[in-house]
Amino acid sequence: MSEQYATESAISTIVSGVRHSFGQGVTRPEAWRRKQLLALRSMLIRHEGEFESALHADLGKSGVEAQLTEIGFMVGEIDHTLAHLAQWIKPRRVAAPLALQPASARIVAEPLGVVLIIAPWNYPLMLALSPLVGALAAGNAAIVKPSELAPATSAALARLVPGYLDRRAVAVVEGGVPETTALLAERFDHIFYTGNGRVGRIVARAAAEHLTPITLELGGKSPVYIDETVSAADAAKRIVWAKYLNAGQTCVAPDYVLGTREVLARLAPHLRDAIHSLYGNAVQGNPDYGRIVNDAQFSRLVGYLSEGTITVGGSHDAAERFLEPTVLSGVARDSAVMNEEIFGPILPLVQVSDLDDALSFVTGRDKPLAAYVFSDDRTVRARWERETSSGALTFNAPILHLTAPELPFGGVGASGHGAYHGERSFLTFSHEKAVFSKPLHPDTLGPTVMPPFTRAKEALVRGWLGKLR
Ligand code: NAD
Repeated sequence: MSEQYATESAISTIVSGVRHSFGQGVTRPEAWRRKQLLALRSMLIRHEGEFESALHADLGKSGVEAQLTEIGFMVGEIDHTLAHLAQWIKPRRVAAPLALQPASARIVAEPLGVVLIIAPWNYPLMLALSPLVGALAAGNAAIVKPSELAPATSAALARLVPGYLDRRAVAVVEGGVPETTALLAERFDHIFYTGNGRVGRIVARAAAEHLTPITLELGGKSPVYIDETVSAADAAKRIVWAKYLNAGQTCVAPDYVLGTREVLARLAPHLRDAIHSLYGNAVQGNPDYGRIVNDAQFSRLVGYLSEGTITVGGSHDAAERFLEPTVLSGVARDSAVMNEEIFGPILPLVQVSDLDDALSFVTGRDKPLAAYVFSDDRTVRARWERETSSGALTFNAPILHLTAPELPFGGVGASGHGAYHGERSFLTFSHEKAVFSKPLHPDTLGPTVMPPFTRAKEALVRGWLGKLR
């Protein structure tokens, strides 16, 4: 954490400075955007050691996991953006209807202005920088507010970003609730918030004051459904990997598993084996496994352990904020663990009577950020696709969708709105301006749609409408 957070008036000055630069056109040239993206890339590579240490200090993240899910992930995203930027920036010619001819129509992506990015603590580097890549690619100025709950990563960003990115147009503002509140009182041209729904509502209210568009990347309970058509051993390995990555503190982590009694009975021992094969028998001493971010989250999670029968794991150590990968069975549908986003390494197994029961269980709740189906039955897959709504749906491969840059990443309903990644990030931070042009001569409007409405014009209009009927 920096020694002192910025005051309200310092925050105001930062925002107006950045806005002034945007007004001066600093951020618009494609060359500027590329330079920023390359600088961000260099920062990540040159300081990877510092970022790895910060992520370890904040979340006990291993170096390999930090590379896979934060540092390397970001470099990949920057490279994808640099490779496609020229094409995304190009104005897109579209057809003008025959009745308007001669005319031309184009869609021109223009930057929105100054954007505010508010990031959470669970992937504190990636979730602060990934939206920034889109904002810069689209030619915006930006303020990044990292999470105060990942203080080492927040401090590393605040220290390093100004040495690489154009200080006139990009600023990192550290802080917690008071600083974010001060930021939200300012006028932005877009706010990109990642975090929980309670704060999402605060952000939405503040944004409404200035009619600022927002993207809300929220969370929720992402279900897994598994049936008898897949190998329980293979499925268990993927479920375990996706669930216990970052000690379960992943927005798209599988939250719980739905299956019939027989399927769950077959799955449980394979979950145990998969946990042991990924993390060994003495998980606490394994550097590949992370820690819970803070004491409050730790006690909340430990509280869930009594809501079911511990089938695997369950040991914990408050001093280290260590919670073993845990599988819970026999949980009641109305228990807290089944009604709050778990966001930690506890996986409840919930029995359903059949596919219909599983589908109605999911559709009867808030729309999740993702739904994960393990089934090789085409009818089952089709029913999940048609009958449920979620930010994403993956078959046999939880969380991998977010690594495909051509796929929009975002929620629906309670799991958020708006999306990003790849070109979608560029579009999120752009205004698609309609540009239409028609020569003054020949005058095709006077003789057709302008008064006085002669018989001939009336016949023309009615004839045209008649064709539409
Ligand atoms: P958090 O506590 O770090 O909060 C997120 C941000 O909101 C922080 O920058 C924080 O300073 C700010 N904030 C907190 N209280 C505020 C207030 N009263 N007013 C203004 N700003 C405030 O992170 P979190 O919310 O605990 O993150 C976990 C949640 O985020 C989970 O629900 C998870 O599913 C979700 N999440 C979603 C995604 C996604 O991409 N959809 C990614 C990661 C996390």
